[in-house]
Order: sequence, then structure tokens, then C-alpha cells
Amino acid sequence: MSDFIRYSIVVPVFNEEEVVEESYKRLKKVMDGVNESYEIIFVNDGCRDKTPDIISDICKNDANIKLVNFSRNFGHQIAISAGMDYTNGQAIVIIDADLQDPPEVIPQMIQKWKEGYDVVYGKRIKRKGEGLFKKLTAAMFYRFLKMLTNVVIPVDVGDFRLIDRKVCETIGKIKEQNRFMRGLISWVGFKQYALEYVREERFAGKTKYPLKKMIQFATDAIISFSYKPLKLASLLGFLVSLAGFGYLIYVIYIYFTTNTVSGWASGIVISLFFHGITLIMLGIIGEYIGRIYDESKNRPLYIVRNTVGFKEEKQPD
Ligand code: UDP
Ligand code: MG
Repeated sequence: MSDFIRYSIVVPVFNEEEVVEESYKRLKKVMDGVNESYEIIFVNDGCRDKTPDIISDICKNDANIKLVNFSRNFGHQIAISAGMDYTNGQAIVIIDADLQDPPEVIPQMIQKWKEGYDVVYGKRIKRKGEGLFKKLTAAMFYRFLKMLTNVVIPVDVGDFRLIDRKVCETIGKIKEQNRFMRGLISWVGFKQYALEYVREERFAGKTKYPLKKMIQFATDAIISFSYKPLKLASLLGFLVSLAGFGYLIYVIYIYFTTNTVSGWASGIVISLFFHGITLIMLGIIGEYIGRIYDESKNRPLYIVRNTVGFKEEKQPD
């Protein structure tokens, strides 16, 4: 039996050598202040820099710190899932390593948890130090997602949150490959509370979410929670046929009223238009089929190379 642990903090890290020491210090300070037992689990999502060495060193001197090393980079959302699988605490806090989510907010989350909430999620009322592009795309993403999905996924909410053990275990049973964690956590329900906070600037280093990953993230979020893009096919098909029918009447009218041979331009326009729509729809259907393929392969979500700091070799179920 492992010792009783009250709080588990899950921190996914990907090439964060510039910040990880500082985030350890800030988290430690906050958690020592809470005065109850805790563990901090860093998930090394295939770092290619010194991050894992720095954390291993910290583990040697601090029994509260644990490290899960992935065999390669599996992505932020999967790193969070893995961290959750390895926790022992009664309440679990998920937080980024870069200190954009201030650890000082955690005691307030704990307070709400003690009042009886099962999920306390951080809602960003302000985003400091993020470029206009990031703010704009983020704002668009959350609102677009709200429009498209049936699950109520709160707007302007990231992964920074506290969840109760029972929520963590429920999520652990969901083995979907394309994970959008905040969507899943919202989907499982339970008693939820939105705690407002100001999102700080990154402590150091650069964002690990370049545009390509952001697009992947947004597609995952939308496709795993909505069929509406598929419905777009029928809607577009209907509109296009309607327009085509209107044009047909016009063509017949021209045929009977004028002698001119109709130009090729309209032909090209129509053909381009239809091909465009067909390709878009094929793409959307492909996205869904790709995900069916991912699920049917039934591969493990992640592969762990080794762990550091755990009492027994803890295996996720
Ligand atoms: N991260 C990760 N795997 C990845 C990308 C990011 O574990 O493939 C971690 C990263 O180290 C950080 C958190 O996820 O702790 C959020 O990433 P980042 O701060 O770069 O995202 P942003 O705040 O810019 O959206
Ligand atoms: Mg960040």
C-alpha cells in the first residue's frame, strides 16, 4: 500500500528546461502552504532537452516529486491523461509547466473542492503576454466549438483545473485515442465550478503549440464532439442543387430567347465549384474515417519508458 496522498498535481512537460525548475519551486511553495500531503507528477512527453534530467535531480531530493517518462512525444492531451492514470490523490490538479496558469490559484480551487465541487476549472478572464493572433484564434476556436458541439464546453477554459478522484477514474476508463480532455471532463458531468483567474505570461521559452498543432487540436476537439461537419455535406448538397436548378431554368430561357452559343466560362465556374465542394466534403468524411481507424487499431494511448520516484512500479490499468 502506498501512503495516503491528499493532492496530486499533474504537469505535462515538453522541452521546458528553461522553466521546469521555477515551476517546481512555485508549486512546492504553494503546496507546502496547503499543509496536507501531496505529490507532483511530471509527465515527460518525449522531451529532447535537459528537462527530464532536471526533474530526475529534483526527484532525488524531494520524495513528493515523481516523473513519468514517455517513450516519445505523444502530445499534451495524452500526457495529461497519463499523468492522471498515475495519480493517487483524492483531488487532482492539472497545470501547465510554463507558469501561465499561476499555481497560487490552486488553494482557491482546493477550497471550492472542499465545498463539494467535483470539477473546479479555471476560466481565463484575461490573457497576458499572448500575441493578438493567439488570442484571436483562441477566441474564435472556443466560440466555433460552442456552435458546433452539443456538449457544453465552457468558453475560455483551458486544461488548468482541479478534479475529484472519482472524475479522474471515470475519465481513465474512457480510452478514446483522439483526446480533447477539457471536452471529456465536461462531458462526464458532475458538479462543476468556474473559478476566474488571469492567465499570465509564459515564464520562459516558447509555446509548444505551433499553428500546426493548434489546428490538429481544434480538429480533434470538433470532430470528437460533433457530427455537424458531416451534416454540412447534406446542407451544401441541397443548396448547390437548388442553385443548379435555378441556373438550369436560366439556361433554358436563354436557349429559347437568344441564338448565341453559351460561353465556356460558366461551365468552368460550375465545374470548379462542384469539385471544390466535393473535395471539402470528402476531406471532412476522411477526418471521421481516420478517427474510426485510430480507434479500431486499439493501440495503447501512450508508452511509458520508465518512471522515477514512485514507491512501487505503478502500472496504469
Ligand atoms: N506540452 C506537452 N506536449 C506537447 C506540447 C506541449 O506536454 O506536445 C506541454 C508544455 O510543456 C506545457 C503545456 O503542455 O506544459 C502547454 O503547452 P504550451 O504552454 O506550449 O501551450 P500554450 O500555453 O502556448 O497554449
Ligand atoms: Mg503555455
